Amino acid sequence: MSDYDFDLFVIGAGSGGVRASRVAAGHGAKVAVAEEYRVGGTCVIRGCVPKKLLVYGAHFAEDLKDARRFGWNVPDCGFEWPTLRDNVLAEVDRLEGLYKNTLDSHQVELIPERAAITGPHSVHLASGREVTAKHILIATGAWPVVPEIEGAEHGITSNEMFHLEACPRRLAIVGGGYIANEFAGIFHQFGSQVTLVNRSSTLLRGYDESVRDRLMQISMGKGIQFRFNAQLDKIEKMDDGTLCVHFKDGDPIPCDVVLFAAGRRPHTDGLGLENAGVEVNEKGAIKVDDHSRTSCESIYAVGDVTDRLQLTPVAIREGHAFADTVFGGNPRTVDYDCVPSAVFSDPPLAGVGLTEAQAKNKLGTVKVYTSDFRPMKNVLAGREERALYKMVVDATTDRVVGLHMIGPDAPEILQAAAIAVKAGLTKQQFDDTVALHPSMAEELVLLK
Ligand code: NDP
Repeated sequence: MSDYDFDLFVIGAGSGGVRASRVAAGHGAKVAVAEEYRVGGTCVIRGCVPKKLLVYGAHFAEDLKDARRFGWNVPDCGFEWPTLRDNVLAEVDRLEGLYKNTLDSHQVELIPERAAITGPHSVHLASGREVTAKHILIATGAWPVVPEIEGAEHGITSNEMFHLEACPRRLAIVGGGYIANEFAGIFHQFGSQVTLVNRSSTLLRGYDESVRDRLMQISMGKGIQFRFNAQLDKIEKMDDGTLCVHFKDGDPIPCDVVLFAAGRRPHTDGLGLENAGVEVNEKGAIKVDDHSRTSCESIYAVGDVTDRLQLTPVAIREGHAFADTVFGGNPRTVDYDCVPSAVFSDPPLAGVGLTEAQAKNKLGTVKVYTSDFRPMKNVLAGREERALYKMVVDATTDRVVGLHMIGPDAPEILQAAAIAVKAGLTKQQFDDTVALHPSMAEELVLLK
């Protein structure tokens, strides 16, 4: 008999926490997971999943317009935000149910309460219950950063965007990263006048420059407005409800909704880390070793709260590797090399491996191949938007070290191509593959 109530106590039922709970239970551990809000975490409840559904919903604006060029007699169509919003929220409810079923079917006890650590093996629940566990896993994710400016309370974060009463006529988005560009694309298609406000002149830091530039150029062409090198001063609420975003320099922007998309901070407030000597780094992220173990031997952490790579599939891998290591007798670590990622902007962009700049710094001599083309669907639709694919190759070994693309379905295409990059294939091996014609992806084996 164990001296503890549980073998594993997980705090946070998001992607990392649920995977770790399920796998640990599958290895025979007695597991409980505490969740103060909803099962599924950021990805399922207020992130990737509802966002992607909005992306699909938004794209109909262009598809319906383009359909006329393909012979369809499309009447003028109106868009009803409440219908899409409610259908998306219903889908989120359904998925949450599936996540709960998974926990249930693996005999994981779900405790719908806030939990805080009181020692290396103990947790206090909001109801007052004290619980002990041999191991504790922190999987509390991250939380949106709200800039500390006067009137910040008038702004909202991505958490609230999925619940808006109405589609804003004017939307100002603070930030130039993933969330900013994704919501800019979505709400522009819904008919909002979107202004993206960025503190520097660089969007999507970390992605390849050519691809970022192409997104900016296309976004501007569509009518999304940008305010670069903008220093926020305050947000003022006018008598008629209009929000006015003021800057240290330059004209204010009037709008109906201000969305803060200025990064996400590890979610550790009130977790009681100090009670068990769990250390955090200068960004507030929990410090962990390769096996996700914190500075306290019995406590582990996975996912966004560790700020390694804030991506759902990474959190899932970390949670799985943790459970296999601690409960499955199979110690393993996560390989962070060549993790593909995408921004579901309009059009979407995706990348894997080194950018051209990173490759030059790391390898010295690199060869770069690009294809800058107008997808045939865009040609017939009369759309000027061009796609851009870029391959970065180690000039010494001919190995493809980076692949970056923007254009229709770029994330779908890149996921498949990422296997080849991860496997270390050469440019010649790409070229040896016969093109699949006509497709956009065939550009990858025809790069000159
Ligand atoms: P990002 O880190 O992508 O972008 C943050 C943006 O906000 C940057 O432009 C940054 O500027 C700016 N910024 C940072 N601090 C401030 C501040 N105090 N005032 C004004 N601007 C500021 O964060 P997001 O919030 O967009 O997304 C959070 C994370 O969630 C992402 O990093 C990503 O890992 C994940 N995510 C992934 C998605 C996907 O996989 N498709 C979708 C959405 C989120 P600067 O560049 O100058 O630092």
